Amino acid sequence: MEDLTPIRRQYLDLKRQHPDAILFFRLGDFYETFDADAEIVARELDLVLTSRPVGKGQRVPLAGVPAHALEAYLARLVERGYRVAIAEQVGEPVNGLMPRRVVRVVTPGTALEPTLLEERAPSYLAAWVEEGEGIGLAYCEVSTGQFAATQWTGPEARREAEAEWLRLSPRECLYPVTPGEPATPPLPSAGEVACAFTPFPAHRFAPGVARTALLEHFRVTSLHAFGLEDQPLALRAAGAILQYLQETRPEALSLLVSIEMYSTARYMLLDPATRRNLELVESASGGGRRGSLLSVLDFTRTPMGGRLLRAWLSQPLRDRAAIEARLDQVEAFVEDPIARDRLAAHLRGFPDLERLAGRIGSGLASPRDLAALRRALTALPEIQALLRRMEGPHAGAVRPLADRLEPLPELLELLSRALVDDPPATLSEGGVIRPGFSEELDRWRSLAREAQAWLAELEQRERERTGIRSLKVGYNKVFGYYIEISKAAAHSVPSDYIRKQTLVNAERFITPELKEYETQVLNAAARQAELEAELFRDLCRRIGEELPRLRAIAQALAHLDAVASLAEAAARHRYVRPELTEEDVLEIRGGRHPVVEQALAGRFVPNDVVLDAEGRILILTGPNMAGKSTLLRQVALIVLMAQVGSFVPADRARLRPVDRIFTRIGAHDELAAGRSTFMVEMNETAYILHQATSDSLVVLDEIGRGTSTYDGLAIAWAVAEHLHNHPKRRPKVLFATHYHELTALAAYLPRVRNAHMAVAEVEGRIVFLYQVRPGGADRSYGIHVAELAGLPRAVIRRARELLRRLERGEPAVQPKAPPAAPLPLFAEHPVVQALRNLDPDSLSPLEALHKLYELKGMV
Ligand code: ADP
Repeated sequence: MEDLTPIRRQYLDLKRQHPDAILFFRLGDFYETFDADAEIVARELDLVLTSRPVGKGQRVPLAGVPAHALEAYLARLVERGYRVAIAEQVGEPVNGLMPRRVVRVVTPGTALEPTLLEERAPSYLAAWVEEGEGIGLAYCEVSTGQFAATQWTGPEARREAEAEWLRLSPRECLYPVTPGEPATPPLPSAGEVACAFTPFPAHRFAPGVARTALLEHFRVTSLHAFGLEDQPLALRAAGAILQYLQETRPEALSLLVSIEMYSTARYMLLDPATRRNLELVESASGGGRRGSLLSVLDFTRTPMGGRLLRAWLSQPLRDRAAIEARLDQVEAFVEDPIARDRLAAHLRGFPDLERLAGRIGSGLASPRDLAALRRALTALPEIQALLRRMEGPHAGAVRPLADRLEPLPELLELLSRALVDDPPATLSEGGVIRPGFSEELDRWRSLAREAQAWLAELEQRERERTGIRSLKVGYNKVFGYYIEISKAAAHSVPSDYIRKQTLVNAERFITPELKEYETQVLNAAARQAELEAELFRDLCRRIGEELPRLRAIAQALAHLDAVASLAEAAARHRYVRPELTEEDVLEIRGGRHPVVEQALAGRFVPNDVVLDAEGRILILTGPNMAGKSTLLRQVALIVLMAQVGSFVPADRARLRPVDRIFTRIGAHDELAAGRSTFMVEMNETAYILHQATSDSLVVLDEIGRGTSTYDGLAIAWAVAEHLHNHPKRRPKVLFATHYHELTALAAYLPRVRNAHMAVAEVEGRIVFLYQVRPGGADRSYGIHVAELAGLPRAVIRRARELLRRLERGEPAVQPKAPPAAPLPLFAEHPVVQALRNLDPDSLSPLEALHKLYELKGMV
């Protein structure tokens, strides 16, 4: 240590306090990083790695970024999951060494800076804690102050928690570690979410410690009001978040004015695979938003509305009343297109009030942020009036939202008085506070102006007095104001000039009078800047007092933006309001796929699908490319949209809200991840068979495809039977398959229906009609296509013959040896099979009788 330079010792000291962050160490106009940090920074930011002496014969790696470009570099590091501690120079040098202190730690989940945030996606900091089978999850968004917690217990806890975690896709997640033990993140970080896992001491998650943190933060004596007292795991996660912010981002704490305890049971459960398969907020091919459901529904005008709509899509509702309430609001805007347009005009260019309020509350606001807030507040009464004037049978549904847009006249008045019309981007540029707001500021300003004017006149005066035409008054940082005279005229300089500097062609002088005014100008400017900053801070503090109200307004506006957006989509794409019913039915007439129909511009063929108590399982057959997958997804999407509170692409849709949508569709992405497709497929299928309830919708596309024909068919067959026969779990099922054999199920399973996608032959060509029709598809279709394609006639004949044999269950080729036992797969009589699947203990006497009739019907 003795051999090290003092600055190196200072650096090591700071680094010791922040071992898991990259330390940006301010050195003049640069932020420097050293040692291992420098290597990371050079690699991640494409910077040159150099080295620097730090003591006797020692050099260490060094990489730096210019101070003015800090935010851009920060953004790149944080995006990649790094934490960055920023050490600034503070105060005056002591024994030649600048004191330095870490003034902020930027982590992926605690970013407030606009450059670090994606506009239309949330940026969550989460905390995860497990105990036994239970899991607690809390999350917050420091840029908006959203703060929520939930928990799960029981055997399904982990699955449900993971699904919720994926929905949130937090940027950063805290988890407990016990000192001395290895830190292992609770979830795999690979996959779709790039999350930075931050180990946090386990004792911070302890019930008592976490509870105290919450009580102190909210200044309450009980957490009952937040619904947290009997949710110990949620409480522990929430308490950890508060303590973490205390250390990394204390200024953000003032934004967290409340915490919402929620239960995922209120929402439709969407597992990660389904979320992906249905391409809710991004397309599965990695094409971003394009091709996603969000892309056809998103007409939001503000980033906060955009974020809310996105959240709604990943969290459809289950409660009928809640869905109807949202549908009413959407309908109100469908009925009144003029109000919708006016609202859109107001919201276009409207500031991101949620995050703006956040920046003001945490002291990061710029003068333009305040001006944006003023604009927003100015518009509020008009928006409110516009909403209250809305007409139509559903206008009343929007009233409560209008009421929440309570204008803040005093705050608006203050901002109007205090802030100039068009303030500069930064406070240091000056000219932020409006003249007339503060007498003292005005006084300093006029002093500065007078002195400045005097200096401006000086040039003219001195030119006249000395007769030197080249005389100029100038300013630089080192000498302050000076009078400059060219070398040629130097001989006629008056005697009261004091020479200060000699240049190649000119001489520079000062006079006592000049210096006096200079002091005045500089003093006045400094005082003016100080005072202006103080007034600005006061203003921010005053706004800070209204944060809860501003947040409520921001939320109401986001909500309005989102429902108006759904109304806009409904009007543009000709959607209808879905009818929710208690009846056990899913009835879609003239349904369309919301995304595919956009791409097909009018050529999309609508279809009917009905699933009810009598027909719960639809086996959909048809050749490749006939439109099976599209139909399956379209049904799932219509149900999902309905439960989001959106109108739906159909002529009519009637349904009972479902508790979950399961999908088992394609598996290309898993293939890329190197997992066996078939294994993945079976995992997902097992999950569905275990989890689906009679209130679920299950969409199965081509299960069993990943293995040999007989295996696959056998599995698909058994899966369909299970879904049909299970005494308690009887979901509605759409089952698309190329196994024509499965159409036989309908013959002996009463609640199975067959349907197929129609094709026609026109002038020797196959034409897809994209119409779903009752009954199974024509099975020799494949051979027919082969014929049309010009395969030799003999080959076609032979294929037909083989097909017939296979249909009869005979081996395609006569073996020389005595024939093997008939294929076991279909040898068993359906009645025997049904009996095998029957669980007599779970049947009521009436059900048993019913079953008997059913069995009798099969022989
Ligand atoms: P399958 O699952 O039977 O192989 P897809 O559902 O993938 O078939 O559909 C293949 C293509 O057919 C789609 O990409 C789409 O362009 C078109 N298509 C599907 N359904 C319709 C429809 N109802 N109307 C018009 N075109 C459709």
